[in-house]
Amino acid sequence: MPVELKPESAYSTAQHQFDLAADVLDLPDEIRTQLREVKRELVVHFPVHLDNDSIELFTGYRVQHNISRGPAKGGIRYQAGLTLDAVKAMAMLMTWKCAVVGLPYGGAKGGVDVDPRRLSAGELEHLTRRFATEIALLIGPEKDIPAPDMGTTPQIMAWIMDTLSMHAGHSVPASVTGKPIEVGGSEGRDDAPGRGLTFLTLEALKYLHVQEETPTVAIQGYGTVGGSAARLMSEAGLRVVAVSDSKSGTYNPKGLDLDALREHRQVRGTVGGFRGGEQVTNAELLELPITVLVPAAIENQVTAKNADRVKARLITEGANVPLTPEADSILHDRDVFVVPDILANSGGVIVSYFEWVQDLQAFFWEGEEINTKLHHIITRAFYEVLHTSVNKRLTMRTAAYALAVQKVANASVVRGIYP
Ligand code: NAD
Repeated sequence: MPVELKPESAYSTAQHQFDLAADVLDLPDEIRTQLREVKRELVVHFPVHLDNDSIELFTGYRVQHNISRGPAKGGIRYQAGLTLDAVKAMAMLMTWKCAVVGLPYGGAKGGVDVDPRRLSAGELEHLTRRFATEIALLIGPEKDIPAPDMGTTPQIMAWIMDTLSMHAGHSVPASVTGKPIEVGGSEGRDDAPGRGLTFLTLEALKYLHVQEETPTVAIQGYGTVGGSAARLMSEAGLRVVAVSDSKSGTYNPKGLDLDALREHRQVRGTVGGFRGGEQVTNAELLELPITVLVPAAIENQVTAKNADRVKARLITEGANVPLTPEADSILHDRDVFVVPDILANSGGVIVSYFEWVQDLQAFFWEGEEINTKLHHIITRAFYEVLHTSVNKRLTMRTAAYALAVQKVANASVVRGIYP
């Protein structure tokens, strides 16, 4: 069994994936050194008044990895224990994600070390407005455009947009994406990561010539990404047999009744205890006898310890970095086809891009147009990556990275070094 690479450092994992692509491309050292490092990293410590009249100090981050191809773009995550290391890794991933699907953006990421579930709505709003103010020097429609990620919502994006607009003295809707429709949000943004995952799962099943009439799916994480993936995959004719959240999971080999599950979750706050399925842990869910596994929660879920017990034929990565590099190589040896995060979950940033374009033009498109354009962009990228993977005998991940890194390297070279 291979030894795990320092799993505690998400950034070293991101750099390791970059190195694999840089080796394939034979990237010159001077470009490699630049792209291996983030451009800007901002750490902020800020106080927030809590409802019980106390004051708590929070730590937040905004990191821009690269802006050679356009303004920085990337989500804001509210997660207990969030570190600068993790944010740097995710910022780098965003650069490759935007490049592989051809969006005119660089990569960024941010967030606050907080469990948002322990805050009241008022506290969450105060924290958000203060954090937005702290990172305001970096963000804006032409500089760096945040979006939702784990633990953040369209409402939180609306507060960020309003805070930046108050500073500017006028509305700046294009300063953030993933907003509610009422303030310049886009049709289809909420579902976009799940919709992109569904499109690519169907394409991958076609490519793999999976013969089953209704391939089965297990989804780890039942939030923005996992929840919409479950619904859309089921609508597309796949059988969703298991889902989980941070507390528990539920499994029914005949297929889950997703409407009943949604109602159960609304009442109980978790998918656990659902009568229409048997209880499973997150670890058990990953090893179920299914066709497709969609990890859509947190990092490092499939590792050297459990990769050889994964039974899925296909893994479509909803979460960022749900597989460790060691798991990747074990799964590759076992012929498990992986659609990598930077491609698989790019539906979110693709429709964020549409939202930004619509806000800048103050002209809004219909849902059908959004979904058609999303399908076109993400499917085209899938086949570009697939062809590179087949022609150059690379894993899908390394192929996706190689295409992306090449585009960013080309932009860096053609721009040159200032001054
Ligand atoms: P979310 O907060 O809406 O949902 C996260 C889900 O994961 C919840 O069901 C939560 O209970 C579950 N979860 C949390 N900790 C867990 C644990 N330890 N084990 C199992 N489940 C756990 O978040 P989201 O926006 O759906 O993001 C999920 C993943 O997808 C993240 O990796 C994020 O970076 C990535 N992603 C999000 C977007 C987006 O637009 N929201 C886009 C692309 C990628």
